[in-house]
Order: sequence, then C-alpha cells, then structure tokens
Amino acid sequence: MSILQILHYPDPRLRNVAAPVSTVDDDIRRLVDDMFDTMYDAPGIGLAATQVNVHRRLLVADVSDSRSEPVCLINPVIATSSGADQMEEGCLSLPGVFEAVERANYIEVQAQDQYGQPIELEADGLLAVCIQHEIDHLDGKLFVDYLSQLKRTRIRKKLEKIQKQSS
Ligand code: ZN
Repeated sequence: MSILQILHYPDPRLRNVAAPVSTVDDDIRRLVDDMFDTMYDAPGIGLAATQVNVHRRLLVADVSDSRSEPVCLINPVIATSSGADQMEEGCLSLPGVFEAVERANYIEVQAQDQYGQPIELEADGLLAVCIQHEIDHLDGKLFVDYLSQLKRTRIRKKLEKIQKQSS
C-alpha cells in the first residue's frame, strides 16, 4: 500500500492533458491500487491519475457511505449525458474549497476495467458528478474553471497563502 502525493492547485501539472492507457498491465493495476489507497486515506470520493502526477487516462471513485463500492475507469469516455443539476463540489487538489457547479445528472460511460475488459457504466446523482469531475482532470480542467474569474482569483490567493504557511 502506498499513499501518493496529491498535486495542489495552482500547480501547472494539473493542466496536463492525460494520454490514453495503451496496455492495462501490472504497473497500471499497482497504480490503481495506490490511487484507491490515496483516495480512501485523504479521504475523498474520487481521484484522477493527473492529481498524482501520472498523466494517463484513468480514475478511481467511491461515492458510497460505507466506502465499499470502488469504481475504476480506464480510458473513460462519456457516451451519453442528459439533465442538469447543481451540486456543491470539492476537490483533493483544492483543499477546503467547495463551490456549486452545474453538470449533467445522468451519464453513460464506456471504459476499461483494471483487467483491460471493456465496461459500460450508467451513473446518476453524485457518482455522475464525480465521474465528470474526474474526467475533467484528465483533460487538464478543474472545477474552479466553471466559476467566475473573480472567484477563481480569490481561491488561488487563499490556497497560495495556505501553501506558503505550510512550507
Ligand atoms: Zn478534483
């Protein structure tokens, strides 16, 4: 078990666009295990590889209260989305920041699992929001990008101050 270091906004590496995973091998499975450990330890409900400075298209999530419904998506693609809901979001890369973002409330995702097998997942509510948030990470996008410039500047200054104090 390894806890990986999570990049914090405004680290420019969070803006990298992740490359597809070409082969789901033991290295990828080890990374998936470490990402689950890191997400549960944080604790968070989702983690994209980008956040642990690995620029490959994979993410993990678990939105259950019992922390017993792990979801691993490799090369995820949103095939269908519908509806719209506003939900307050947070992010392990922006500790202490919570803001409302509007996203689709139903999605169908095509991906591979940790054995390289194709899977299709239907998600609504919190899981749908979480998966959209994590796929954004793989495209170098953060939830604060949906906010106004003013709000974003305020958040960046606040986080830079915290990082200076803790370093
Ligand atoms: Zn995030």
